Amino acid sequence: MSHIENDPKYKGLAVNNGVVQPPSVNPYLQTQMRKKRKKYTVSEFVDGILKGNRVILSQAVTLLESAQPDHQAKAQEIIEKCLPFAGKSVRVGITGVPGAGKSTFIEALGMFLAKQNHQLAVLAIDPSSERSKGSILGDKTRMEELSRQPNAFIRPSPSAGSLGGVARKTRETIVLCEAAGFDIIFVETMGVGQSEIVVHSMVDFFLLLQVAGTGDELQGIKRGIMEMVDGIAINKADGDNVDRVNVTKAQLVSALHMFPLPDSGWSPLVMTCSAKFHVNIEQVWEMVINYIDFVRQNGYFKKNRIQQANYWMYETINEQLKSHFYNDPTVARYVKEFEQKIFSNEICSFAAASQLLDLYFNHSLPINDD
Ligand code: GDP
Repeated sequence: MSHIENDPKYKGLAVNNGVVQPPSVNPYLQTQMRKKRKKYTVSEFVDGILKGNRVILSQAVTLLESAQPDHQAKAQEIIEKCLPFAGKSVRVGITGVPGAGKSTFIEALGMFLAKQNHQLAVLAIDPSSERSKGSILGDKTRMEELSRQPNAFIRPSPSAGSLGGVARKTRETIVLCEAAGFDIIFVETMGVGQSEIVVHSMVDFFLLLQVAGTGDELQGIKRGIMEMVDGIAINKADGDNVDRVNVTKAQLVSALHMFPLPDSGWSPLVMTCSAKFHVNIEQVWEMVINYIDFVRQNGYFKKNRIQQANYWMYETINEQLKSHFYNDPTVARYVKEFEQKIFSNEICSFAAASQLLDLYFNHSLPINDD
């Protein structure tokens, strides 16, 4: 059929008929792959995870990341059954700006731990909009050596949804990984927005990977992070950089002194390392282990995990209430209208919120609705 714009009344260039594009994925392979992916029952999933089967673990994580309600329900059942076997790992949060050397550091430390026969899972939390800017965890080029280790499991950040949603999925992934026998879990974030807070709320040790900088740059470190860290490792302490790293170390040590002793009773340490040249990597890990011993002895380890579990209960409630509210058909119908009214100064934000909430709770129609 000739294109509508080829009608003589249009004076432009002629438009050719389109050509059928070959499929971008080999259809034969696609069917093969579909055939291969077996649908497991909940108990097959749980059995596989408890046996440490990586393929099944991976598929269970995919299930819990899915937005489909039936997948979600199945994933919840799996998580519940895995919970009694979870909790036995050391969970370490790692934050640092892009380029600080997080993946190089995780690879170096991860290889060291893998050689000691630890089972290491590397997870990530980053808001999806930020992840396309270069460093995607799990990217082929990142942690290449570590990703080939049979006792390492690397999983990129869940891509969809709000930070709360992404964080919940990562937290559930931790449960599955622990049930599968992983004894060390790294959760990486590049510290965009509030992501440090959520990572901090799911780990035992929170590490800031820092690079040497001028005093001004150091002042730019979010104040909140300094209050959260259990340790700082200043990376790239190699070559000409060593002097600057030492100056930065002194500055960070004195900056940390300005904060009161954290609830853990542990004074955060500042160390230097070179991830690229494998210098002091083991010492950084020693710091983590010393911390864990310290808080296990003073009872903070357990207390912190209980506090975190409570935090996640409230977070989940908040998140679900919020999504229930915004997905309510009546609310969804009127919310834009209220936005307009705020825009044109017909109503103030508080009255709008109160009327929308009233709509949600009492299904009363908004005032002036006709
Ligand atoms: P990320 O974005 O925080 O994950 O940082 P990367 O691990 O991708 O590292 C960013 C760049 O810094 C890369 O070019 C690394 O090779 C380099 N790098 C990482 N660690 C070191 C280090 O210890 N010393 C030096 N000189 N370069 C490093």
